[in-house]
Amino acid sequence: MAMNAQSKFVSRDALSEFLAELSARFRVWAPRREGMEGAGAVMYRPFDQAAGVELDKKPTESAKRVLFPPAEALFRFRRETDGGLSLESPPDPGPTLIFGLPPCDARGFLIFDPVYAGSGTAGRAQDTYYLRRRSKTVLIARACSRVLSTCFCHWVGGGPAGSEGADVLALEADDGFVLEAVTPAGAELLEGKALRPAGDKAVKAAEQSRASAQKNMLPAPGISEAPEALRRRFDDAPFWRDEAAHCLSCGACTYLCPTCYCFNMTDEGAGTSGIRLRSWDACMAPLFTLEASGHNPRPDKAARLKNRIGHKFSYYPSLHGQRFACVGCGRCIKSCPSGVDIRRVVTDALGRETASAGAVPGKEKRHA
Ligand code: SF4
Ligand code: SF4
Repeated sequence: MAMNAQSKFVSRDALSEFLAELSARFRVWAPRREGMEGAGAVMYRPFDQAAGVELDKKPTESAKRVLFPPAEALFRFRRETDGGLSLESPPDPGPTLIFGLPPCDARGFLIFDPVYAGSGTAGRAQDTYYLRRRSKTVLIARACSRVLSTCFCHWVGGGPAGSEGADVLALEADDGFVLEAVTPAGAELLEGKALRPAGDKAVKAAEQSRASAQKNMLPAPGISEAPEALRRRFDDAPFWRDEAAHCLSCGACTYLCPTCYCFNMTDEGAGTSGIRLRSWDACMAPLFTLEASGHNPRPDKAARLKNRIGHKFSYYPSLHGQRFACVGCGRCIKSCPSGVDIRRVVTDALGRETASAGAVPGKEKRHA
C-alpha cells in the first residue's frame, strides 16, 4: 500500500483528541494496559481518554472480543401469563471502530468472515449476530515497528506492515503516526481537527519503519504443502503424542487466538424467564467433544492438538480458498505455559529435513 496525497499524520499528543472525535460517530475500542506495571496485560477496551491507549506493546489478547464477545446474550426469553413465549433481541451495538490492532488481528477477521457468512459448506447458516457487528465495524490497524521472536505472520501471507483486512493503516513516524487509507470507509475516517497532511519527513520516517519491521523477520520456510502433509499425518499417533506431550489442555492458545471462533450455547433461567448465552469454547479442552453418551471422539490431548493444527493448516484451507486459519500472531506460542510451538508442529509435520530450523527459535531445545 503506497502512501498518497491523502495520507494524514497524527502526533502521539493528538491521538487522544483524534479518538475522542471518532467517539462521536463510533463505539471506539483500543488496546489498553491493565494490571501491575511490568506484569500486566494489554487488553482491548472501550476507549477512555483518561486511561489512554497502549501502542508500544503487542496486545496480549486478540481483537476478536469486539466482534465476537467472550460471552453474549443472544436473546432473552420469558413465559407470559397467557402461556405465550416472548423473545427479546439484544440492542444493536451500532457503528464500531477498533483502533491500534496489529495487522495480524485485522487479518484474523478475514478468517471469521466466511465461516459466519455460511460459505464453504452447503447448507451452513449465517450468523446474524457476528455479521451485523462486522458490517458496521471499521479497523485502523497499526503496523508493527518491532517484531517479537514469536511472530510469524509472513509464513502465512501477512506481514508486520500488512494492510489486508484493515480500513486504515497507521505507520509509526517520529512522534506520531502516518495514516494511510486502505478502503473508502477508511478514507472517510481521515478527517478531523487532530489530523494534518503527512509531510515529506513523516512519510519518509513511516516508510523506514515499514521497511525495518519487514527486515527484522527471520526467513520464512515455505509451508504451502502443510495441508497435504497434515492429511498424511492424520493416523500417525506417535507423531501427535510426541507433539502434544507437554500440553496441559489449558485452552489459553484458543482463547487468545484471533482466528479461533468456536462457541458453546447455554440457557440460563430463573422461574419463567432467562437468557440464551453464547460463550467462547476451546477445542483444546477435554469436554469440548464429550457426547451425552459419555463417548468422546477426541479423548486425549494428542487428538485435540491434531484437530487444532489440522483445522488451521489443512481442513480450513481446503474449505476456504487455501487460506490458512492462522495469521501468525504468535500468541499461542508466547502464552503457552508448556512451550508448545505451533510453528514447530507444522514444520515437523512437513518433515524435519524440510523445515527451516533456524526460523523457529528454540526449536532444537524443546525436546531436550
Ligand atoms: S496453551 Fe499450550 S498447554 Fe495450553 S492448551 Fe494450548 S498447547 Fe496446551
Ligand atoms: S494459531 Fe497461534 S499464531 Fe496462529 S493466529 Fe492463532 S494464536 Fe496466532
